[in-house]
Amino acid sequence: TCGICVEKCPFDAIEIINLPSELSEDPVHRYGENAFALYGLPTPEPGNVTGILGPNGIGKSTAVHALAGERIPNLGDHETDPEWERVLDRFRGTGLQNYLAALEAGDVTVARKPQYVDQIPKQFDGNTRDLLERTDERGALDDLVDRLNIRPVMDQDIDSISGGELQRVAIAACLARDADFYFLDEITPYLDIGQRMVAARLIQELANDDAERSMLVVEHDLAILDLLADTLHVAYGEPGAYGVITDPKSVRNGINEYLKGYLDNENMRIRPSAITFEEHAPRATSKGTPLVEYPDLTKSYGEGEFELHVEGGTIREGEVLGIVGPNGIGKSTLAKLFAGSLEPDTTDLDFELDIAYKPQYIDIDQPMRVDAFLSSITDEFGSSYWNTEVAQPLQLDRIMEQDLVDLSGGERQRVAIAACLSEDADLYLLDEPSAHLDVEQRVRATSAIRRYAENHDATVMVVDHDIYVIDLLADRLMVFDGEPAERGHASPPQEMREGMNDFLADLDVTFRRDERTGRPRINKPDSQKDRQQKRDGEYYYAP
Ligand code: ADP
Ligand code: ADP
Ligand code: MG
Repeated sequence: TCGICVEKCPFDAIEIINLPSELSEDPVHRYGENAFALYGLPTPEPGNVTGILGPNGIGKSTAVHALAGERIPNLGDHETDPEWERVLDRFRGTGLQNYLAALEAGDVTVARKPQYVDQIPKQFDGNTRDLLERTDERGALDDLVDRLNIRPVMDQDIDSISGGELQRVAIAACLARDADFYFLDEITPYLDIGQRMVAARLIQELANDDAERSMLVVEHDLAILDLLADTLHVAYGEPGAYGVITDPKSVRNGINEYLKGYLDNENMRIRPSAITFEEHAPRATSKGTPLVEYPDLTKSYGEGEFELHVEGGTIREGEVLGIVGPNGIGKSTLAKLFAGSLEPDTTDLDFELDIAYKPQYIDIDQPMRVDAFLSSITDEFGSSYWNTEVAQPLQLDRIMEQDLVDLSGGERQRVAIAACLSEDADLYLLDEPSAHLDVEQRVRATSAIRRYAENHDATVMVVDHDIYVIDLLADRLMVFDGEPAERGHASPPQEMREGMNDFLADLDVTFRRDERTGRPRINKPDSQKDRQQKRDGEYYYAP
């Protein structure tokens, strides 16, 4: 296949692989003969946030190296020494001209946030304060530390803080700098929705605060990207072979075209089918025999450290139950109670379910190949059924022979999802399966999980902070609220409408529908729609 479709390609795959005809011009950069080629560059705009939407391996970092002045693009000629002058000539008269001129003159300073924050502890020795203090070039660090809620871990060693904390520290470290060009490669992994919105707002404020600053953000959470960016480049192509970065589009059009699978201006199909959302809450269903009925439960850690109250409820066989709520509220604790690895304070849980559990932070650093690892989990490994249901949609064939330790964050995530679904269990619990997956992979992983549940009458619980992933996946919702790290409360599973209303009311966020595509979009706080929907108590499925 061309790497775009999951199933057999309904289009002529060859057409898709071939370079679109308008790309007959030279690439901006080619690494070598028959090596990866990048077409087009994103345009940093002073005072604005520019978004990039597209798969991994499509040349986004290559483009950023160029825009950061770290590598002069060779314009496709990898044999001659590249020169800025030729690059300037090529982009004269385009939106990039001024930016490239400043770059050539050495007038551009760059701050960046790396994609995989989990790597930071390997490169830095010391505590959070040590790391952040050296970045405080604008005198804004105190404010960033407060708003990103980093204060509680200021004196903790960087190698002892959680992924979500590390993500916020990395964002603060980037935004504290005084630069002309900021590049943030994904801001949302491990953050809950509230934290995602804070990060988005901080980036916008920084762009708006100085007409000279430009921000470039790669982001795969579409609701956040929509909120964050002023303009958008879609990136498409064949990961590892070539990538095309489109001219800037309005954020709304860019995301809509992306979801539709068809780029209007480019006249280009990038996916065989559209991604669609439920505009109305799925009708309440009573189907499904109970898998478990559980009583009210409490679980506390130590003396007054954290206390979880779970309201009793029923999980139905064969349903996909979405789990939403802030970080540190007790979601993983509940999973451990169900799995029997933790005991509730008083009540005895007399069911012992076989739970297949994919934790949020994936620790599979064994010196073992992917195929050996997966075949140690299931006898079905390599069967045509397993290939169709698990390996193909998660695109495992390209990484089967790699060592687990060498996998990138997104590759590791896909292996961990596959490992979880390959177990023979009563209940599959996936904690943030979308982390580090690009949008395309999110869509595939989502449909793989759904299809797996349908074909096996498997019951699945999915914790995720990407509202589009939850919308596409869940039949019902379990909502957690409370005070993170102090007390948590879990509601019984609810129908989608009630669940979304409870969850979003707590966050004080409403969604409207894009008129053309029905895609949910975050309302501006205090806009007319926001106020009306809050009055009506319709936070997500507004009529
Ligand atoms: P993205 O940031 O979109 O994930 P990258 O720009 O990192 O993509 O990489 C795009 C492609 O270019 C990948 O296939 C990568 O293997 C290849 N590539 C990156 N750097 C080099 C290099 N120095 N030499 C050859 N190929 C490279
Ligand atoms: P979530 O999965 O919603 O992010 P968790 O269930 O992991 O939340 O944790 C809830 C709270 O309980 C957090 O404050 C966490 O630090 C604390 N906690 C989790 N496990 C333990 C433990 N074994 N001992 C003490 N505190 C814990
Ligand atoms: Mg958790």
